[in-house]
Parts: sequence; structure tokens; C-alpha cells
Amino acid sequence: MPFMKSVNDINFLFENVKNLDGVGKNISAYLKNKKVEKVKDLLWNLPYSATDRSRSVSLDRLEVGKILTIKILVKKYNFPRIRNLPNRVNCIDETGKIDLIFFNSREGYIRKVLPINKWVVVSGKINFFKNKYQITNPEYISQIENLNYIQQVIPKYSLTEGINEKKYRKIIDQVFEKLPNIDEWHDVNFIKKMNFTTWKNSLTKIHQAENVKDLNSNFIRRLAYDEIFANLLLLSKSRYKIKKSKKKIKIFKGLLVRKLLRNLPFSLTADQKFVSLEIENDLKSSNRMFRIMQGDVGSGKTIVSFIGALNTIESGYQVALMAPTEILAHQHFRLAEKIFDGLGVNVSLITGKTEISKKKNTLNLLLKNKINFLIGTHSLFQKKIKFFNLGLVIIDEQHKFGVRQRIEFAKKGGDNCDVLLMSATPIPRTMMMSIYGDMDSSKIKEKPAKRKIIKTLSKPESKVNELWPFIKKRIEDGEQIFWVCPLIDESKKLDYTSAINKFSFMNKKFPNKVGLIHGSMSGEEKKIVIQKFLTKKISILVSTTVIEVGIDFPNATVIVIENANKFGLAQLHQLRGRVGRGEKQGFCILMFKGSLSKNARKRIQILRNSDDGFFIAEEDMKLRGFGDLIGFKQSGIKYFKLADPIHHSDLFQLAEENINLINEKKINDPKYNFLLRLFDKVDIIQDSF
Ligand code: ADP
Ligand code: MG
Repeated sequence: MPFMKSVNDINFLFENVKNLDGVGKNISAYLKNKKVEKVKDLLWNLPYSATDRSRSVSLDRLEVGKILTIKILVKKYNFPRIRNLPNRVNCIDETGKIDLIFFNSREGYIRKVLPINKWVVVSGKINFFKNKYQITNPEYISQIENLNYIQQVIPKYSLTEGINEKKYRKIIDQVFEKLPNIDEWHDVNFIKKMNFTTWKNSLTKIHQAENVKDLNSNFIRRLAYDEIFANLLLLSKSRYKIKKSKKKIKIFKGLLVRKLLRNLPFSLTADQKFVSLEIENDLKSSNRMFRIMQGDVGSGKTIVSFIGALNTIESGYQVALMAPTEILAHQHFRLAEKIFDGLGVNVSLITGKTEISKKKNTLNLLLKNKINFLIGTHSLFQKKIKFFNLGLVIIDEQHKFGVRQRIEFAKKGGDNCDVLLMSATPIPRTMMMSIYGDMDSSKIKEKPAKRKIIKTLSKPESKVNELWPFIKKRIEDGEQIFWVCPLIDESKKLDYTSAINKFSFMNKKFPNKVGLIHGSMSGEEKKIVIQKFLTKKISILVSTTVIEVGIDFPNATVIVIENANKFGLAQLHQLRGRVGRGEKQGFCILMFKGSLSKNARKRIQILRNSDDGFFIAEEDMKLRGFGDLIGFKQSGIKYFKLADPIHHSDLFQLAEENINLINEKKINDPKYNFLLRLFDKVDIIQDSF
């Protein structure tokens, strides 16, 4: 098989970068910091610009400020004996003279690379000082034979901050010298039709800096397609594995659920009923469930997952629910305690903050099957947490976790464990398959009927005074208010100062009615404040964005968001979803510093006119790009290195169509394995199930 023959040639790509000449301890440590460990990682580290060293002139035609590559004769050294004064070397050609200036370079080095009366090539930026041309710390000094190597347009990599251009070039050159021509793994007719070039050719092109910005070039598109394809391959393989693994069917009559529904103050929406039924069928099937439930904020996903949980419990299994934050875990716990009242279901909570003695006790009960429903944060997945017979894992706000993690969750549950994920992050249609292609999906589109559309308004910060009478009225009517402070910095440390200041300001205005919550508080502190808000002891909750995910305060009717232009639309929509969950009219007030740009006005228009998270997300993506979509940026999970969901949406479509043509047998073809390895997908598969 021709492909197998080239395997030996490609193996070097998966070796540690240390195996390359010139990569010692320091450089490899530096690269590792930048997530470059294997040789192939260098391929995805693209140049962002270039340095043009292609211009070469004689010394009578030097131009100040330009980077030039010159041929000169070394004439005389000047090594001052005073500290801090630079070393200086006088050089000439037939037409003029120039000095090379060295800070921090040792005499011995200079004597070695610049022998007196030798011609050399030097490249660097020309400056003019005290009536003399000079180059300070030239990037290249070399023998004349190397002129062609230096006199070029040279890609600039961000890595060169820590590794100089010359060194990095040596490293990346070694990779390209060895890069083999590999047999095409895609359908050859497809490649022709798309006008794609070969893998090697595309990589070579993309590493020429002048090309890197053109997302629509056929070589970037080819590599982006590779990446999308690899992603789909991974998910499809994972799907085949899941479909193969059989489980014991769950047997239940729905008695607990019937009781629960009687406990609820509302009836389920049609979508909630439909998805509950889908989950019920999955539980009863001998195939393991691996399902994502998507629904906009406030669409009522929690209750649907609880119905699945109850059916699982009725059939004699335990259930684990994992939430991304302490606050949410507590909220789910409280809700479960409340609505499972009288059902004979034991619910327990474990978070990272749970006391050791209490935790021990819980773990003990868990192993003895005395706890039916365990709720917690990601600490639920520690090794020491062992279930008696876990039958269902529910993961809330799944977008906080990547593909690797969700496969781990599924594995952790064991053979009889079903997996249900929930997400409020709207995924653009084109991306659905590339992100959740391994799962079945359910959608909750409609929101509970009684809910009114939230009124969204904007206000310049200078007019904040106009708000007070409105806020006062709301408080008098027994309603509650969220006040979200701007995110000054991504780091929690910085972003709470503004919240603290706002809190003391508001506290003077509305004494004893204001609470504060931010990410740097302890779980216990947060719990106390939230409890106060829930029990209406306080009316206003000043916060950073910690309230963002999933919190349910039915009595909150107003959310004020300061510096709203710092947020993306989808994020604003999620924040807005915190209010108006009860029957009263909800308000979202977006505060702005200064005057609004045209773009900002457009964004507000979109928010005002739509309550559809999916529509808003698509618009957000058009305005700001995919990377800023809520959830993806926050999660720190970067799904794609090259592929861009906006520019390459057709490629997503095509990859989806093509992957559907590949059956289970063909999907294990070794040629695809290389592709998976290139994009770090292989170990995900090996780890799974
Ligand atoms: P999300 O989908 O954002 O997780 P939640 O599950 O937190 O939404 O539900 C939001 C709110 O809507 C909760 O207060 C919940 O009790 C309420 N709710 C859920 N389903 C219904 C329904 N069918 N009718 C009325 N209110 C409902
Ligand atoms: Mg939720």
C-alpha cells in the first residue's frame, strides 16, 4: 500500500521538537509553553507577517529606516573598555562605509563572525547616527555564500519573540526539508473539483507569510477542509463506537414522573414533552444514550433532565448531574429537593467546597446506593467518587467542556450509563455536525407560554439618574434587580473592583437592599448572598458576570448591564435571560459609555427585535466572528486551528456530505489515521469507551 510506505517518512512529524537541530532545553521549554511539543505542531504555528530582506544595495545607496541586506568588507574593530558602551566594527564596500554596532555581544564572537579583511553578508535595519550609517545588532551576519539564504522575504512567526528569526528559521526549515509528499487521503475527484492543491504544497504556501491572510485561497481552504474533515472523522468514529456498545435496558413505568408533574405549578410545553419522550425511549433502548439537548436560556431544560433522572432512578439506577459552577450546582440541588418532595428520592450535593467529613459520608452512602441523585460540579468526576450503579450522567451547560471531556464523562459512567448533555449555546447550523456529530440531538424551541418578551432598552451612562425612580418602583412592587458590572479584564481579580465600587454606591442609595457577588468570593459567601436574594431579603444583586450561566431567579424582573458594548450579543442575550422568568414583565437595560457607534446601534436593534437565541447568535457571529461566540471563547476551547465557520461554511457542508459517504470500515483506513494524528484527535479516540 503506497500510503503505508510513506509512514516512516511522516513519523518524524510526531516526534518531540527536541529531535530537531538547534532545539535544546530552553527552546523546547519555550515552545512547549506555546503548545508546540511535537514537530507537527510547528506546521500549525503560522506566520503572521514577513520581513523583507530581499533588497540589496551598495553603501552609497543606503536608505535610513529600511531593512537591507548588504555585502561589506570588515575593516576595523573598536572595543571600548568602558561598560555600557557598545562594540563597534567599521566596514566598507567600493562605494562607502557603514558601522556595525553591538550591544551585549562579546568580543570573541565578533572577531569570529566578522574577521578583518573578509567580505560578509549582513542584514538589518539601517540607521544614521552622528553623521554615519550604521546597523545595530544585525539579525544576520554570514559568509558571502549564504547571500541567497538571507536575501529573501522571510516569514515572521509570533514565536520569534522568544526565539530569534534566524534560529526559528533553522528549525522550521528542517521540517519543510523533510516534509514528504503524501498520497492524497481525500477523494481525488473531489480535490480536482475543488481546485485544491496537495497537502504538502498547501502547507508550503501557507507558511509564506504574504499568503496567510487570504482565507479564501485554495491552499488555506484545503487545509481547513482537512481540519473539518478530521473533526468529523473523530466524531463519526466515536459515534460508531457508542452505537456498538450495548447496555441493559432501563425498565420503569413513569410513576415517579407522574408524581413530579403533579408537584409542578405548571404543565410542560409541547417541546418539553417531546424531548422527555425522546429521552425516555433512549433510556429504554439497549443502545446507550448519547444525546445533546439544546434550548435557549429559559426554555426549561432542567425539568426535562429531571424527568429523565426520575425514570432512571425508578428503574433502579443512580443519576449524576454535573453543573459548570458551584452556584448552578446549588440551584439544581435546591430545585431537586423542592420538587422531588414526597417522591422518596435521595438527593445529595458534592462540590469542591464540600467539607471532607461530609464528603466522606456522602461517598459512603453513594456506594451503598443510599443516594439516588448526586448533583455537583466537575469534582463529581474525581476517581474517588464511586457509584453503586450509575445509570445516567447529565451535564449542564455543556459548552464549557470539550469533546475530549464529554467522551471521558461517558466512559466514566460505565457500560450501562446513558449520557445527556444540555446546552444553551446556539450552534450555527453549519457547525452542528462538527461539534455534536457523535451525538443525537434534541431541541427545545418554544419557551414556556406565560412568559412575556423582555423589554430591552439602552441608556448612556450619563443618564443613569433617570433610572432610579424606575428601580425604586420595582423594589416597592417586590421585584428584584440584577446589576451587572463591566468586565474590566478577563481575569477575575481585576473585574470585581468595579462591582465592589458599584455595590458601595448602590448600598448608599438603597440601604440594606443590595448584595454583591463576584467570582473571587468563596462558595460559602456566594451561597449566602444568593440565599438572601432568593428569599427576597435583598432586592438588588450587584455582580460580575458570574450570574451568567443558568441561574434561575423567577422574581427578578430587571437586569442592568453596564458597559454593554463589552459583551457579545449572544452573551447579552444570555444575561437578559436571567430575568423575566416569572409572569411579570422583564426589563433589560443596556448602559453605554459615551455615544453609540453605528455598529453598536445595530447590535441593540437586533437584541430588541429578537428573542431567539439562535438568530441572535448567527447575527453575532456575522458582526464579531465565530471566536467571540459565547461559550466558545469563555470555555477556552478552540475548536479549529484553521477552519473559519463563517468563511468556510461551504466546507463544513461538503465535509459533512463526504463523511456520510464513508462507512465504518473505510473510516478506519490508516490514511485517515495520519489526518487524525495531525490534528491531535487520535488519543481522544483511543481513550474513549
Ligand atoms: P434553562 O433551559 O435555561 O436551563 P430552566 O430549566 O432553568 O431553563 O427553566 C427556566 C424557568 O422556567 C424555571 O423557573 C422553570 O421552573 C420554568 N419553567 C420550566 N418549564 C416551564 C413550563 N412548562 N411552564 C412554565 N414555567 C416553566
Ligand atoms: Mg439551565
